Amino acid sequence: MKVPFVDFASPYAELKDALDAAYHRFMESFWYVLGAEVEAFEQEFAHYCGSKHCIGVGNGLDALHLILRAYNIGPGDEVLVPSNTYIATWLAVSYAGARPIPVEPDSRTHNLDPARIAAAITPRTKAIMAVHLYGLPADMDPILEIARAHGLKVIEDAAQAQGARYKGRRTGALGDAAGHSFYPTKNLGALGDAGAVTTDDPDLAERIRTLRNYGSKKRYYNDFKGINSRLDELQAAFLRIKLTKLDEWNARRQVLANRYLEALADEQALELPCVPHWAEPVWHLFVVRCAQRDLFQKRLETLGVQTLIHYPVPPHLSGAYADAQLPLGCLPIAEALAATVLSLPLGPHTRPEQADYVASMARKALSEF
Ligand SMILES: *Cc1c(COP(=O)(O)O)cnc(C)c1O
Repeated sequence: MKVPFVDFASPYAELKDALDAAYHRFMESFWYVLGAEVEAFEQEFAHYCGSKHCIGVGNGLDALHLILRAYNIGPGDEVLVPSNTYIATWLAVSYAGARPIPVEPDSRTHNLDPARIAAAITPRTKAIMAVHLYGLPADMDPILEIARAHGLKVIEDAAQAQGARYKGRRTGALGDAAGHSFYPTKNLGALGDAGAVTTDDPDLAERIRTLRNYGSKKRYYNDFKGINSRLDELQAAFLRIKLTKLDEWNARRQVLANRYLEALADEQALELPCVPHWAEPVWHLFVVRCAQRDLFQKRLETLGVQTLIHYPVPPHLSGAYADAQLPLGCLPIAEALAATVLSLPLGPHTRPEQADYVASMARKALSEF
């Protein structure tokens, strides 16, 4: 058996009629940018998250960057970010002109450790970016409490967590604003680049609506130095269809995750994902830790199981942040995670028998160590 990490053919097969119809509707509308499809998706996605406003933008990086811009966070300011996130979280801060200040995660949940936040706050700190990594919500209540005590904004990086719940409430409506990515592999994936901001703050929503469109409310009258980052009509039309499937597809991911958790529970050489009692994750990724990760990955590959590493290099050790003076050894938890994490294949179209095969091949590979 061969188990690929991602499968784009099966989602298309499942939704072909609806996606093709949306494509033809779009082709005959002769309206390409900021029209009825984007407006409808914005309303539907805001409603889904339990948020008052949604603004469609070009991608997840822009969503996060535009939130910072709209809050006037920029040069001279600091934003707390997880040390072990995907680099886009850091780049959004840098792109706004501010400085990303890494905070180490809880090594069990891989999410921001609220107990480490206070020590990282300085008079320049303006916001905390809480990432719901791998689809597991971050522990938002203590993060919000510290933020309120210091007058900081809390921005969710919800790129990997569409549909996840924290204490019963959906991600995307837990902080002051949230950035979403609809990159094709995300739980709610477009067929190209796409993203959105959700927020309950009407002033922030209005500023982002303006900033994404050249800083212009009225055509050719530009109030701010905005950018061009608009959600495409065609992508919005596709996303509206995908959104109606999101809960069902997330539920399928949960079934597969349960199978992995059960089948691998007594593997001493693996650390399995940890799900706090208040979290309902959406399993964007199923990430295990293994001391001999590279060997484990190679053996799985020869057994037909494709795996990926999210992420092999923590942002502070990447070339992009060579100037940040964060040398090897300064963020040991992020570094240890990068050296040991491995993502097993899991998606809404992974078949249960494929997951069983992955689990048994994982056991076989580990038994040979
Ligand atoms: C995917 C991702 C982003 C960026 O989204 P793009 O749409 O690729 O720009 C940001 N943060 C995290 C955690 C992500 O996984």
